[in-house]
Amino acid sequence: MDKIPMKTPLVEMDGDEMTRVLWAEIKKELLEPFIDLKTEYYDLGLPQREKTHDQVTVDAAQATRKYGVAVKCATITPNAQRVEEYKLTQMWKSPNATIRAILDGTVFRTPIMVQGVNPVVKNWKKPITIARHAYGDIYKATEFQPKGPGKAELVFTDETGAETRQTIFDFQGPGVLQGMYNTDASISSFARSCFQYALDAGQDLWFAAKDTISKQYDHHFKDVFQEIFDAEYAKKFKKARIEYFYTLIDDAVARVIRSEGGFIWACKNYDGDVMSDMVSTAFGSLAMMTSVLVSPEGNYEYEAAHGTVTRHYYKYLKGQETSTNPMATIFAWTGALRKRGELDGIQELPAFADRLEKACIDTIEGGTMTQDLYGLWEGDVPARAVTSTEFLKAVRQKLEE
Ligand code: NAP
Ligand code: MG
Repeated sequence: MDKIPMKTPLVEMDGDEMTRVLWAEIKKELLEPFIDLKTEYYDLGLPQREKTHDQVTVDAAQATRKYGVAVKCATITPNAQRVEEYKLTQMWKSPNATIRAILDGTVFRTPIMVQGVNPVVKNWKKPITIARHAYGDIYKATEFQPKGPGKAELVFTDETGAETRQTIFDFQGPGVLQGMYNTDASISSFARSCFQYALDAGQDLWFAAKDTISKQYDHHFKDVFQEIFDAEYAKKFKKARIEYFYTLIDDAVARVIRSEGGFIWACKNYDGDVMSDMVSTAFGSLAMMTSVLVSPEGNYEYEAAHGTVTRHYYKYLKGQETSTNPMATIFAWTGALRKRGELDGIQELPAFADRLEKACIDTIEGGTMTQDLYGLWEGDVPARAVTSTEFLKAVRQKLEE
């Protein structure tokens, strides 16, 4: 059988621990036998980040801007314990934060649904994608705790030195204060990423905030979305027969729960943080959640939503077999290969991605799954929990059928 050719390389970002082990197995078992795999390889494993003083992460992000499509393995975000464990000279920043700072953009998270693992919300039939604005608001806020009575003011000094002042509150006793911001540049790129993603996915886009209470801040988000939609996307949406609408966040949560899924829900930073955990938990398993960063320049970085599965890795190091679910990591690869194929006009790549995804889903629906899904299984066929390697072999067999 001839292997599928590639034109432009994928930016391949390797990672850490259990997911690094799976990464190599996925390539060997499911990709390299079928594709003449072209990648530009960046090792984002913690030892290499330490060795290059994290330059490798910056280089990988720059390569993503150059080539347009990347696939990333989960990586360790160092904390004090990791500094000790890996003898780090610095507590390197989260690679995802570094990459996001260079690419900008929006993170889209979508659950992989299989029959037999049912969402907690029984009317959810199709996946719900959360689009989280990953910039500003309370994540970059300045906070202050007045210890006693006093006046809190909001002061803005413009370039000429002119000030505008507003009283926030006259404190009669101790309390708390917070100042936060966002920028038109970031809100606009968030909006464009969401509109573009909705067009790519052929799904409706919902955007929800609290403009009735936050009459300037949240209202501004709503206005920016609407202006960009009217000017640049309204016609395209009509042609694609999809819809964009804004609604209040409290109305949105009620509608989301009653919906059957199959749409994109754009959320401000904090709402997206909270809602993506709620949605992923309600759909079943973190191991079945995919994630893609879409930049305003049209660059795509695909990954799994979960981490490096450290607990399983320590078992693996002791020589024990693990039952770690590789689904989200496989789907990161299929997402990237599909996008690369579309951009390069290589039909066989999206077709292969579809076949591989189907083989994965058929394997699980046929009763062969890792431990995490076994615990959630409600399917008709009897389920058996297998090791990661057995699961990959079963998918390979389905793929060859
Ligand atoms: P995690 O790796 O997502 O794992 C948390 C738990 O979720 C696991 O112990 C496991 O539960 C379950 N789980 C997650 N993925 C699974 C899979 N594929 N198959 C089966 N079970 C799975 O999160 P963490 O333990 O909090 O973080 C570990 C490391 O990952 C940290 O160093 C963190 O910095 C990093 N991290 C990286 C990213 C990223 O690169 N995007 C994201 C999050 C975390 P059981 O142990 O009960 O089986
Ligand atoms: Mg969170």
